Amino acid sequence: MTNLLLASTKNTDNQNRQYTPLNDPEIASVVAHINEEHLDELLGFLSVFTSLSTAELDLVDAQITDIYAEGIAIQTCPKGSENQPTDAQDSSLHDQIFFIAFAAPISQLDDLQAQYILLKQRADKKLGKKTIKLTKQVFDVQSSYRISKNMLRLELSMPSLDDAQSSDIKDATSSTSVPTNEAGYAYLFDLEHNAMTSALMTDSIDGNEADGNAVNDSEKNNVRPTRLHCYYTLRKAWHTDDDIRAWVDVFLHGDTSGGNWAAALKTGETVVTKREFPEKVEHLRGGQGVLIVDETSMPTAARLLELWNNPTPPLVICVTQDADDQSYFDTVKMRSSLDSIGNDNSNIDNKIDCDTETHGNDHFTVLPIVTNQANSGSDLATLIDSTLGDYLTDNPLQIDKVWGALEANTAKALRPLLRERLELSRTDVVVKVYWRHD
Ligand SMILES: Cc1cc2nc3c(=O)[nH]c(=O)nc-3n(C[C@H](O)[C@H](O)[C@H](O)COP(=O)(O)OP(=O)(O)OC[C@H]3O[C@@H](n4cnc5c(N)ncnc54)[C@H](O)[C@@H]3O)c2cc1C
Repeated sequence: MTNLLLASTKNTDNQNRQYTPLNDPEIASVVAHINEEHLDELLGFLSVFTSLSTAELDLVDAQITDIYAEGIAIQTCPKGSENQPTDAQDSSLHDQIFFIAFAAPISQLDDLQAQYILLKQRADKKLGKKTIKLTKQVFDVQSSYRISKNMLRLELSMPSLDDAQSSDIKDATSSTSVPTNEAGYAYLFDLEHNAMTSALMTDSIDGNEADGNAVNDSEKNNVRPTRLHCYYTLRKAWHTDDDIRAWVDVFLHGDTSGGNWAAALKTGETVVTKREFPEKVEHLRGGQGVLIVDETSMPTAARLLELWNNPTPPLVICVTQDADDQSYFDTVKMRSSLDSIGNDNSNIDNKIDCDTETHGNDHFTVLPIVTNQANSGSDLATLIDSTLGDYLTDNPLQIDKVWGALEANTAKALRPLLRERLELSRTDVVVKVYWRHD
């Protein structure tokens, strides 16, 4: 059980003296990152590891104030204070500091991720939420092909558990190891696996085994890609009679580790994933939603649309560098997979004119933005915000929920602009970071 200390601001310093500072210059940026990107997780920690009630938590936001060897200190603060008068809230809940202990102390910041993931797994489990998994999965590459100018689709397969396990050890929870009805489910792909495999193949084809049998350490360093891992989203997965099939759509944008890895994959090769986690999209179940995507998050939005379980169709703001990648949504049909949970529904070829045709409640509007440059930075946030503003002037809509995923600086600049324009709270405006501009 996590140790818990409840302290008011008055005695924070005394309480903190019990914990070991990490004295790492990177702590401030890690704390800022978690506070910016992971508010819902911090609230989850407070909900599970403290005595705060759900009603109390509804009134507050949370932020990490420090990371110690033994755990993290989380402070409550007024919820969405930019939009609500402070006197309308219960100020006794503000500025309290809670200590959340790690399962095992850490000695350096590098160890934080593992302990943070453990906390998150425990909290999500208690809250009945899907959580991050540190499991290794192996897929076979079936094929790869372009689906728009710069988007490469990988079709992967995995034996279904029906084949892989004897039926007597199957149970309801293990009936699928690849989620077929989740939007934005992301896998961390091990790029090094394929670099090593290809080096070993070359090694054996060249008949070099006599020199030492295997790739040695210096050779390993030579074949190591600049990035060892890369996140890509499960665009869609479905069962066939023989196996589980999955699409992963990779945006190719020049000579980069992830793109080169994807482009070089051949039929019959294996790809390995090391971590997987669900996307934060629960808030989209009701109200008028807006999805804001660039090339990296189009796969998540496409699956969200296919699984859209909200009577009101969303508005999709789609930012691409190249006009030819806007066609990505042309073959995406809203709610096309809602009736297919557990069934194969892979043959989607209904081309809809998203901008001009109305398909009753199944019509979604795409607001295209073509930038002719890499989609990063705060200027892009201003452009997205003003494009949305212009659209809402012509089409008055009350926007209730936002989901987006963009470059880090764009996401950071866009969140406050949208909160102000749409008068929404932090939890209703989820804009994730999917990549960072160097
Ligand atoms: C949860 C999650 C899900 C994701 N899902 C997908 C997905 O389904 N498909 C997908 O394509 N990507 C997806 N991404 C993004 C992908 O992981 C990053 O874009 C990754 O950085 C690409 O690696 P890379 O080797 O191509 O480039 P990097 O090694 O990251 O960067 C190399 C260079 O390319 C630039 N660069 C990186 N990404 C972009 C970009 N998108 N546009 C322009 N320049 C760029 C960098 O600034 C740098 O100069 C996802 C990311 C996350 C966190």
